[in-house]
Amino acid sequence: MTTTMHEKFDLLLEQDPEHECPGLGRDNICVRLVAMAELPTRFGDFHIVAFENNRDGKEHVAITKGDVIGASDVPVRLHSECLTGDAIGSLRCDCRDQLEAALTAIGQMERGMVLYLRQEGRGIGLINKIRAYSLQDEGLDTVEANLALGFRDDERDYAVAAHMLMSLKVESIQLMTNNPKKIAQLTQYGIQVNDRIPHIMPSNEHNRFYLETKATKSGHLIDFHGNEHLPEQSDLPIVAGMTREQIGAMHE
Ligand SMILES: [Zn+2]
Ligand SMILES: [Zn+2]
Repeated sequence: MTTTMHEKFDLLLEQDPEHECPGLGRDNICVRLVAMAELPTRFGDFHIVAFENNRDGKEHVAITKGDVIGASDVPVRLHSECLTGDAIGSLRCDCRDQLEAALTAIGQMERGMVLYLRQEGRGIGLINKIRAYSLQDEGLDTVEANLALGFRDDERDYAVAAHMLMSLKVESIQLMTNNPKKIAQLTQYGIQVNDRIPHIMPSNEHNRFYLETKATKSGHLIDFHGNEHLPEQSDLPIVAGMTREQIGAMHE
């Protein structure tokens, strides 16, 4: 932790609460950096930076490693909140594996960050996600369940993420993703994405059976009732040690 870095954070904390702009995306979202603290974790030593926004009470955070303010080519992972997966360890999705893989990788880098976006359940919210799970228990897939609830298949938007990067004065990024569409969205919001880092999860006892099942089922998750559903993160999962055929099957 250099003094310089804390000075940069202090300066941002001083200036950013006054920030105003026309906003980004379909909702003209604008965020302000309002709090920052050290965050030692089992994945490494990070800082956590909290943002408020002008649209709802959602409190988005950046989990940063090293000196990212004003930096170029910063490795960045976008993670959409999933209470059931991230916190509880649900096997209906692979969100926790994806989050842990990102924190583990970035925790070993000189700098990088995970933007933890509070868009639960592909953006439909926790209660609606659980309603959708319930519909899936009755045999619908994710897409059908979301449509039955009156949502589009995917309500996620990365305008908040783009603004958070701007608030941190990040010059350019390398996006950790297996999904080129995410790069297109960020670029459209004015973020310079110089490179893509494939997001590869280490194989472990928790994800191996689950992902092998998925790979053999043409990219769809299978829950314990045998119902198919889609991943909640907008990335195709790639697990170290899996064959190209298995991964290829997930891209279909
Ligand atoms: Zn703004
Ligand atoms: Zn999830």
